[in-house]
Amino acid sequence: MPSSPFIIVAIDGGAASGKSSTSRILSERFNLLHVDTGSYYRALTAELLRRGVAPGDVPAVKAALAALRFGTRVNGRSSEMDIDGHVAGDEIRSREVNDAVSHFSAIPELRAALLAYQRGQADVAQCHGFRGLAMEGRDIGSVIFPDADFRFFLHADPAERSRRRAGQGQQDKIHERDRLDSSRKTAPLSCPAGATSIDTTLASIGAVVQQMATAIAAKLRPA
Ligand code: C5P
Repeated sequence: MPSSPFIIVAIDGGAASGKSSTSRILSERFNLLHVDTGSYYRALTAELLRRGVAPGDVPAVKAALAALRFGTRVNGRSSEMDIDGHVAGDEIRSREVNDAVSHFSAIPELRAALLAYQRGQADVAQCHGFRGLAMEGRDIGSVIFPDADFRFFLHADPAERSRRRAGQGQQDKIHERDRLDSSRKTAPLSCPAGATSIDTTLASIGAVVQQMATAIAAKLRPA
């Protein structure tokens, strides 16, 4: 095993499937940069809503996107996207953003605007001395990094996922988001061929992480 290969771990799945908890723990264990791409789509949605742009108005979305500048801040082990120098806060978890984000993220031009930015997170991780990326989202193993060293797809029973979200105190129509995310034409949510599919319904976070970590440890020693 080479002393420190740079690895990319792609973690995809629907809302409340366990992506964030597992990718955060893996990033600690293996010294990876944690990238929550859902937060990018959310931050962009919050910014477009703030500018009064509706998801149905694609020309306005395109015009707004052309004027925005994206940067990255590394906060501990997490990557945060700044838009025109500003990192969004809790507003990205608001009900307005929850309701709008899947409509904006179905727009191919908006996804295209984030594609290179997301791939560039590998350079950010390397520049900051991380041993790799733990990137979570919907299309990481299918579109962003189809050649990732590890591709996991997490899923769980719908009732269990609703229970998890309610426990977080969020008003979030997760099944409607999943429906929209799975049925869009560009980069739909689906388990890519060759990815490891893990059912998290009855498993503890620790057990899911253990399964993922065992696979990763074959290539990279824990930090
Ligand atoms: O992960 P999270 O639930 O915060 O993602 C919010 C939304 O962002 C998703 O419902 C989806 O519409 C969009 N998204 C996406 N592709 C990704 C990550 C998130 O379309 N890679």
